[in-house]
Amino acid sequence: MDHAELVALDHRYTLQTYGRYDVDIDRGQNATLYSLAGKKYIDFASGIGVLSVGTANPKWLAAITEQAGKLGHISNLYYTQPYAKLAQQLCQRTGMAGAFFGNSGAEANEGLIKLARKYSYDHYGQGRGTVLTLINSFHGRTSATLKATGQEAFHNYFFPFPEGFRYAQANDLASVQAQAGHDVCAVLLELVQGEGGVLPLERDFVQALAELCAQRDWLLLVDEVQTGVGRTGTLFAFQQYGVTPDALSFAKGIAGGLPMGGFLVGEKCRDTLGAGTHGSTFGGNPVCAAGALAVLDILDDSLLREVGEKGAYLRRRVEEMALPCLGKTRGLGLMIGVEVTDGYSNKDLSARLNEAGLLSLTAGPGLRFLPPLTITREELDQGLTVLEETLRGL
Ligand SMILES: *Cc1c(COP(=O)(O)O)cnc(C)c1O
Repeated sequence: MDHAELVALDHRYTLQTYGRYDVDIDRGQNATLYSLAGKKYIDFASGIGVLSVGTANPKWLAAITEQAGKLGHISNLYYTQPYAKLAQQLCQRTGMAGAFFGNSGAEANEGLIKLARKYSYDHYGQGRGTVLTLINSFHGRTSATLKATGQEAFHNYFFPFPEGFRYAQANDLASVQAQAGHDVCAVLLELVQGEGGVLPLERDFVQALAELCAQRDWLLLVDEVQTGVGRTGTLFAFQQYGVTPDALSFAKGIAGGLPMGGFLVGEKCRDTLGAGTHGSTFGGNPVCAAGALAVLDILDDSLLREVGEKGAYLRRRVEEMALPCLGKTRGLGLMIGVEVTDGYSNKDLSARLNEAGLLSLTAGPGLRFLPPLTITREELDQGLTVLEETLRGL
């Protein structure tokens, strides 16, 4: 099958819910991918921050194939080693008290919302179910997580939306206080707003917010679906902010490309979700959990340190190019946003880069780079060359 035949087949039979680039991907190794026709692409996207250890990582591949040959699925009514061992690893490396596994980021955030409402119900009874979120956030595409997303553009078409969300300005404690009330049970936030434009929250704001949460017994819920699993240079971003969430969600990078999400809870709500209150048929699948254990094994201290170094290098090189269409860079670790200057469209620049051989993303009004955490210096340099050659002449 060639590219044109594949595009025709896709258009004929699939719901066209994605504005796809005119690119197909067939195979690859680490951050170097190839189309059906054999054209080479450097990966500065990792799916969307999913391929934490690159494509076809040998250690990950060995772990998932071994597990698939042994036990590919069993219901959550039985004990399995990968589920328990993964929970242990995540708790020991974060100081959290317990883990739940589902299949996606939105599902993980649904779990956080349920956790907060159940915690509040147990301690205060009904009428205290409102979750505060931040303007410009993104929390997923289920009905509740769409409504939790603090961007008006997402609150469309699918009425009626679930109730129980209010929005405050990021980095503005007064704005959060203005939304406080007897009905609030939690604050849900991303420490670096990803889809919103790669906008890191200010440390002082996050710490003040954590104090406010503690005073009011609101749960501090951190959405680490994009920032988690080493993306920002620590295993989770909260570890750089000097706060301890009551619970956090993760997904994208956790299982190295296999579908998995979940959440970690602290001691305070360790027992909030008891038997029968939450569950998932596929959640914590043994193959996905074995993949996640391999990912965590690969993301040791030295690799996490390299994430910071590679991120700094990539940002410095992009800024030194001084391309007319690009402005300042921002972000944390290998979660990088690049400003697009007035008069240029981020969607147009991103399409040009993808078609020229550099897989990259948009976020808010800018470009976004989320390379595999294992990307090599050579792959970074090759990607930077495509970037410069494609955008220099514009
Ligand atoms: C991607 C993302 C989600 C949604 O994850 P899905 O796996 O697509 O459901 C939620 N929150 C954040 C911060 C994300 O980046």
